[in-house]
Amino acid sequence: MYYDLHIHSALSPCGDNDMTPNNIVNMAVLKGLDTIALTDHNSCKNCPALWAAAQASGLKVLCGMEINTAEEIHAVCLFPTPEQAMAFDAYVYARLPDVPNDPAIFGEQRILDAQDCIIGYEPKLLINACEISIMELTGLMEQFGGICFPAHIEKTSYSITSSLGMVPPECGFTLYEVKDRRKLPQMLPLLPCSAPPLIVHNSDAHYLWEISEAENELPCNDLWAYFLSTKI
Ligand SMILES: [Zn+2]
Ligand SMILES: [Zn+2]
Repeated sequence: MYYDLHIHSALSPCGDNDMTPNNIVNMAVLKGLDTIALTDHNSCKNCPALWAAAQASGLKVLCGMEINTAEEIHAVCLFPTPEQAMAFDAYVYARLPDVPNDPAIFGEQRILDAQDCIIGYEPKLLINACEISIMELTGLMEQFGGICFPAHIEKTSYSITSSLGMVPPECGFTLYEVKDRRKLPQMLPLLPCSAPPLIVHNSDAHYLWEISEAENELPCNDLWAYFLSTKI
């Protein structure tokens, strides 16, 4: 099962405007992926469109966001349905600072439908830190029916290791994203040893050509069932 669980759309301030639901689905199919996840910064508002756009493709879609926590740590939160994702979206949105986006600087933050038509523009700047701590995330995922993992943990900014120096066991994570797999050996000593870690490698694509090739795989047919069976 080939996956890419960290992809941004045109809703993210830094996401290319060509990152529309149908373009993402078609590129993922061309690349031979089986499951993808849409993970815009602090928002799930393009997940319903991506979900609908993928229906006829055979591609499995998870709905989520890349949350920017109060500590300026990026973490990916995933849900099995757009409805669950949008319930979490509302929770995060209420805790996102009321700072308006400046489209001239950050881009338009486009909300799209399943035909790639623009149906709105997100007015709040989505890249700010929200008022949710990294320590709250696993508890919130239990509440909203999702799973989460700290994003690009090898990066020197916006990562749990750059912010906290390591991954505190109290966070409750057992799944981690290492974008650059060459850095994995340096990361393993920073993870809690309470549970065997599961590592995923994703593209963090902001442009269509950045979406992963069919090179990262997990031994399952149904990724969500697999995550649940490994008690993430
Ligand atoms: Zn990030
Ligand atoms: Zn990202």
